[in-house]
Amino acid sequence: MSGVDLAASSLNKQPVKIAMLGGTFDPVHLGHLRSALEVSEALGLDRLHMVAAPRPPLRGEPTVAPEERFALLKAGVGDTPHLIADDRELKRAGPSYSVDTLAELRNEYGPSARLCMVIGFDTFLRLAEWREPERLFELAHLVVIARPGFEQPRYKALEELVGQREVDTVAELMAAPAGRFLSLSLDTRIAISATEVRARLGEGKSVRYLLPEAVEAQIFARGLYQSR
Ligand code: ATP
Repeated sequence: MSGVDLAASSLNKQPVKIAMLGGTFDPVHLGHLRSALEVSEALGLDRLHMVAAPRPPLRGEPTVAPEERFALLKAGVGDTPHLIADDRELKRAGPSYSVDTLAELRNEYGPSARLCMVIGFDTFLRLAEWREPERLFELAHLVVIARPGFEQPRYKALEELVGQREVDTVAELMAAPAGRFLSLSLDTRIAISATEVRARLGEGKSVRYLLPEAVEAQIFARGLYQSR
């Protein structure tokens, strides 16, 4: 959707529907991209920002530079409607916190926009360790997507954070600009992880069909993730 279309959408008094899917994307794979596309369809989004994190606070330093990972993300997204490869966190100094990015997006799209933060279930399990998890709900909804291999009950601290906010339908979520929680099971669940992709590349094994061909081509052209 172009800026003009978004403006038209707000003229029709339809609040815009925006989501952020943050990640290390080390490298981006079809688990990320297919999930982003299906979330976008399921929530009826105008735009989904795939935001590359330069230095994720809760994990070790990625081996591939942020700019290289972002170039792969951009190649992976290509011209897919509604998906945006977003490098705003790369331009920011210091560690990348999702709440800061959500605050920026809220500023850009305005108070009535429906803003969703989308995360996979593995990331959700660490939500209580995030910086200002409560503030997240002042800025956005939280949408958690199921991920194969990460099925387990929510523990108490998580339940306290999301229990009261939980809704069962997209309509209930989109009735407010922020503050609600939805658990989504998408049509396609893909058990691909970046860890597995890196390990295969390191061992000289094939990664065909785990990531878009354009991403695979760039990885080999630049000699990324392969042991030298
Ligand atoms: P790693 O294996 O290096 O930890 P990853 O594959 O989990 O990486 P991230 O960049 O850490 O990739 O993930 C970004 C976001 O996408 C997270 O919220 C994660 O839960 C989600 N995600 C990653 N892979 C999948 C998948 N196959 N299905 C659904 N969600 C996914």
